[in-house]
Amino acid sequence: MALIVQKFGGSSVANAERIFNVARIITEKYRQGNSMVVVVSAQGDTTDDFIDKAAEINPNPSKREMDVLLSAGEQISMSLLAMAIEKLGYPVVSLTGWQAGFLTDSSHGIARIRRVNTERVELELGKKNIVIVAGFQGLNRYDDITTLGRGGSDTSAVALAASLKADVCQIYTDVDGVYTADPRLVKNARKLDEITYDEMLELASLGAQVLHNRSVEMAKKYNVNLEVLSSMERKPGTIVKEVVKVEKMLIKGVAKDSNIARFSILGVPDKPGVAFKIFSTLAAKKIDVDIILQSIGRDGTKDISFTVSNSNEQAALEVCNQMKEVMGALSVACDENVSKVSVVGAGMQSNPGVAAKMFEALAEANINIQMISTSEIKISVLIEKKDANKAVEAIHDAFAI
Ligand code: ADP
Ligand code: ASP
Ligand code: MG
Repeated sequence: MALIVQKFGGSSVANAERIFNVARIITEKYRQGNSMVVVVSAQGDTTDDFIDKAAEINPNPSKREMDVLLSAGEQISMSLLAMAIEKLGYPVVSLTGWQAGFLTDSSHGIARIRRVNTERVELELGKKNIVIVAGFQGLNRYDDITTLGRGGSDTSAVALAASLKADVCQIYTDVDGVYTADPRLVKNARKLDEITYDEMLELASLGAQVLHNRSVEMAKKYNVNLEVLSSMERKPGTIVKEVVKVEKMLIKGVAKDSNIARFSILGVPDKPGVAFKIFSTLAAKKIDVDIILQSIGRDGTKDISFTVSNSNEQAALEVCNQMKEVMGALSVACDENVSKVSVVGAGMQSNPGVAAKMFEALAEANINIQMISTSEIKISVLIEKKDANKAVEAIHDAFAI
């Protein structure tokens, strides 16, 4: 008998038939004597629809009110799933994120979980109830509703699994595991039986939306047994774990992220302290910067470029304009028409051929590279957005993973 945390994504609970399918997956495990805690996302495109609805009323709503609205999606799912389980004749209770004890910081729209007070969930488990919890939501210390960022229900599930010391956390979705590339983009993508936390974290952070990157971060930190599997087909999925048996394959996957923008501050003075000033100002505003490129100085000036996620675009533009004034730079450019494509796999730096192979694949596909960044576990390139899908396929083919 085990304590199992399961999470079902939006497509898995999109309609009545799928909700009953999910209810059967849960009750089958319950019948075998397991304690069941289940996190749900909003149905289908509900969250996107809510965002459109808000825009009809106010194109610039406060983040607080956005969170009030978006958190409603998960509450619809949790009650409908609980009703389906009732109908099947099992004891069940649904809880909002706050009833389930999710306390977060105050960064509306991208809140981080500070703590999960699990008393209520444990009380319900003690009463032999199946516990359904709304994902993606919590309360800050002022008792205001917060949400965890798009895809955040995965993180709710892992946080609950860690706090409850669950035996396993199963993330059910619309694909049957983690693939070497998005299976919807690359037809030769291959399902992985296992992947390490670090590799999964890179894939997730680089745009593979199958798991929220913070959920992987948390799973690694608290050593949560994580499995990604299909709610539509009954078969084993992908296990995310610490150590994976050594495989010959070096490259684990290819990911793309099109929700980014590139900024360039052109003609900044070529003297010490310039990069420090720009990036410390960005950091003070909590703007995460990804790839950075600085040109070699010429005629006393240089150019500095960097990428940020779309959500930080406006804030980054303000910083760039401010820096231009302060430093007397020539101009600021912003390009939204870019994507980042990355290869991920352990031991990248000790294999110099990997970068060459990736660049060769892009050259053969006639795709121009704008920026490059490497780490021991990944190589990323910035390219034009229109080339992104072609690049993912070309790189995936080149490595034959
Ligand atoms: P859910 O609603 O269940 O949370 P998501 O849409 O957030 O599901 O994530 C699942 C999707 O992630 C898949 O439909 C797939 O298109 C996409 N995806 C991107 N990269 C990968 C990958 N490497 N492996 C599997 N799925 C991926
Ligand atoms: N419903 C939220 C979203 O669409 C959270 C999630 O699905 O994980 O982003
Ligand atoms: Mg998701």
